[in-house]
Amino acid sequence: MSAIVEEIREAYARVGITLDLPAAYGTYYRLLCAGCGRMVGNVGDRLLPGMAAELVARQRDLYAEGIMGCPCGHQRAVSRS
Ligand SMILES: [Zn+2]
Repeated sequence: MSAIVEEIREAYARVGITLDLPAAYGTYYRLLCAGCGRMVGNVGDRLLPGMAAELVARQRDLYAEGIMGCPCGHQRAVSRS
């Protein structure tokens, strides 16, 4: 796993999202709810170092409010803790 993918994985783990195995061309990863496994989006690995953490940090409030994330509420619960 490349450093950038590891960084993306860690960033999303902080809001209760798991990175799935790479899609066909290996440049996009599906984002799965860590609570129930539902797909909640996808992310490309062509981010620069630091971007993934910043991206997720900006979205954290949206996850905490339940505006983004899975209907099961897992991201909301994790982001608020
Ligand atoms: Zn879920």
